Amino acid sequence: MNFHILTLFPEMIINALHTSITGRALEHGHIALQAVNIRDFSKNKHKKVDDYPYGGGAGMLMQAQPVYDAYKSVADTIPSEHKKRVIYVTPQGYPFNQEMAENFAKNDDLIFLCGHYEGIDERVLEEVVTDYVSIGDYVLTGGELAAMVMIDAIARLVPGVLHNEISAETESFHGELLEYPQYSRPEVWHNRKVPNVLLSGNQKKIEAWRLEESIKRTKERRPDLYQEYERLQRCKARLMKKKILHMDMIELINRGRAVIVLKEWDKILLKDKKTNIFYYTGDSSDLLMDLDDETRYSIEEIVLHQVDLVEEVKEILKKEDALFCYQAVYTQKERMPITGLYRADGKPTAQGLIIRPLTEEDSDKISEMYDLVDDIEYTKERILAGCMFGAFLNEEFAGCAGIHDDGSIGMLKVLEKYCKRKIGSALETYVINYALQLGWTPYAYVVVDNMISLEMQKKLGLHLSKTPIVWIA
Ligand code: SAM
Repeated sequence: MNFHILTLFPEMIINALHTSITGRALEHGHIALQAVNIRDFSKNKHKKVDDYPYGGGAGMLMQAQPVYDAYKSVADTIPSEHKKRVIYVTPQGYPFNQEMAENFAKNDDLIFLCGHYEGIDERVLEEVVTDYVSIGDYVLTGGELAAMVMIDAIARLVPGVLHNEISAETESFHGELLEYPQYSRPEVWHNRKVPNVLLSGNQKKIEAWRLEESIKRTKERRPDLYQEYERLQRCKARLMKKKILHMDMIELINRGRAVIVLKEWDKILLKDKKTNIFYYTGDSSDLLMDLDDETRYSIEEIVLHQVDLVEEVKEILKKEDALFCYQAVYTQKERMPITGLYRADGKPTAQGLIIRPLTEEDSDKISEMYDLVDDIEYTKERILAGCMFGAFLNEEFAGCAGIHDDGSIGMLKVLEKYCKRKIGSALETYVINYALQLGWTPYAYVVVDNMISLEMQKKLGLHLSKTPIVWIA
């Protein structure tokens, strides 16, 4: 991800972003930063970039020419195949939020334009800006702090940036709820004691307490969020009536990724904030007919939970491809037994098998995986997100499995020479246990004619949906 900032104060940006986590991400090349001084493009002999506004009024305005030339100096270097946005940070923009951060993080290049004085000549904004974004309903003296706020929030979503820390994707989500209160040592400070439950060692009780506190806090501090939380909980209650079939949608809600696009009794259309994939369930396709044109055209992929509606939905959304899968769900809360499969302490088993998260340093293994995986770029991205795991037999790479960006378990592959040694089961067990430890319900999509995988899911104790779900694109 390349960040380009057009500013009158490049040193402000450079100094701040070269520290802490963004500093490390820059050092490791996960993100790149370029701060361009708009003043360098002034044609005025005193390097002036501002002038009086036509029609009068308080203050000065940044002129179009230096801003445009600074923009061109950056834009002309960005390859045309790169996905890019040009963001004017302005109090007149849409308020920045996590969903926007996630969408911006999908680009290759982001150009931030920072205003000063009373702002910027409208004509250059019309010509170059794709997004107008604010960081809140107050007015700052300049756009640099706003750009830095956004860059910080976007950069931590770029795969690899959070590195060995728990990745943004595997953070414990609390849906629309604010986080519960947290405490560190000492146990008593200023006569205030850490709540007993947190010292109890009883993880179930701790989780229940945290949820209760999150609810209480959200109700008090952000009633707007709490209202949305309640709506999602009502959706979840409906989906739970067919739990196995709907586990992907339920988990979307549980992991705080779901937006309710439309809901009418048992018909529910959700969108994943992270991937923009849509999920639909309902006894008819009526709800999809009610969509406004903009939303309908924005649907690139939709996961349909009623196999008999496939043709109708393809027709409504003008799609051609359909992939039929069973949903496989591990419904127990306890981790799967691992006897003989791999060792939880990370040491090799008697057969010499180790399973561990793949890291960037495993790039040589990635080349072995070239024959193994369908999309190497996507796999690399999953590795950086901390969501790919490798099996090593006597230190030789033997196979891998992971968690897709949609949250399902998959990408299970074992090199042919290591097949029939239960490495596949070991890998899936490992990933299931990993997901359970994050408080998730593990689920996978299995293509309906993949008999080997379907058998394996059953043997591992996963439940298969009675009817297939369909990925339509
Ligand atoms: N006259 C402008 C208006 O009313 O929209 C405000 C100009 S402000 C003093 C100067 C610059 O600071 C803006 O051009 C913008 O880049 C930045 N800025 C100020 N407040 C901001 C906010 N809440 N979010 C994002 N950028 C902001």
